[in-house]
Amino acid sequence: MNRTRIPLVAGNWKMNKGPAEAGAFVRDLLESSTHAETSAAASPRAEVAVFPPPVSLPAVAEVLKGTPIAYGGQNCHWKSKGAFTGETAPAFLAELGCRYVLVGHSERRNLFGENDETCGKKMAAALAAGIEPLLCCGETLSERESGLTFKVVERQLRAALGGLPAAAQFTVAYEPVWAIGTGRTATPAQAGEAHAFIRQWLGANLAPEVATRTRLLYGGSVKPDNFGDLLKQPDVDGALIGGASLELASFSALADSATSYLTGLIS
Ligand code: PEP
Repeated sequence: MNRTRIPLVAGNWKMNKGPAEAGAFVRDLLESSTHAETSAAASPRAEVAVFPPPVSLPAVAEVLKGTPIAYGGQNCHWKSKGAFTGETAPAFLAELGCRYVLVGHSERRNLFGENDETCGKKMAAALAAGIEPLLCCGETLSERESGLTFKVVERQLRAALGGLPAAAQFTVAYEPVWAIGTGRTATPAQAGEAHAFIRQWLGANLAPEVATRTRLLYGGSVKPDNFGDLLKQPDVDGALIGGASLELASFSALADSATSYLTGLIS
C-alpha cells in the first residue's frame, strides 16, 4: 500500500441481505466504526463501502447517507432510461446517493453475458452520471495456467478504460476468477505482480497521474488472516471482498487492518 492513496475496503454482498437485514447490518457497521473513530481521534482511516443488492439500496442509503461509509450498486445499464426490463440506470443509483458502481464483476461476465464491450459502455455511463465505476478484471485458472494472465487483463483494461479522459475517476479491482469464493487467495507476490502491471498500463495508456492516483483493489477470498500480507504490496490499495464482508466481525476486522496499515505508514 502506498500512503498517498486512501485504502478502500469494499464489501460485495452479491445476492445476500434483503432490505431489513442490509439496513440492520449497516446500522451495526456504522456504530462500530463510530466507536473506532472516537478512539482513533483524528488519525486517517481507510474508506469503507458496501455493495448491497439493488432492492436493499434504499434501506442502506437511509442509514448511511451523509456518513463516511459509502455504498454503491453491483451493476448498472449504460442507457439512461427505456425498455430494458430488470436493468438500473446509473442516474437512479446516483439519486440514491451511491458513490460507486461495480462494472464487469466476473459473475456478471460469466453468468450474465457481460463482456468487454458492455463494460466499456457502463464505465462511460457511470462516469457521466457522476458515479465512480469500480472495474473488475482478472483471469480464469486455465488462462493463468496458459500464461495468459497479463494478456487477458490488458484486453479487459483496454476495452473498459481505453477511451477515458485522464480526469476520469475510477477504481480497478484485480480479481483472479480462480480466487473468487474458492478460499484460494492469490499469493501476495501474484497480487503484487498483477497490480504493478495494471498500474504500469494506466500510466502508459492513460496518463502518469492516473497511474499515481488510481486505487487498485485485490479481490479473491480475502480474509482477516491474509489481508495484512496483501496490503504490504506497494500497489495493493485495499480489497473487494465477498464472503468475508457478510459478517460484521470479519468485515470490521478487514477495515481496521487497512486503517492500521495506513496509520503505520503515515506515522
Ligand atoms: C467478490 O465477490 O468480488 C469476491 C472477491 O468474493 P470472495 O471474497 O468471496 O472471494
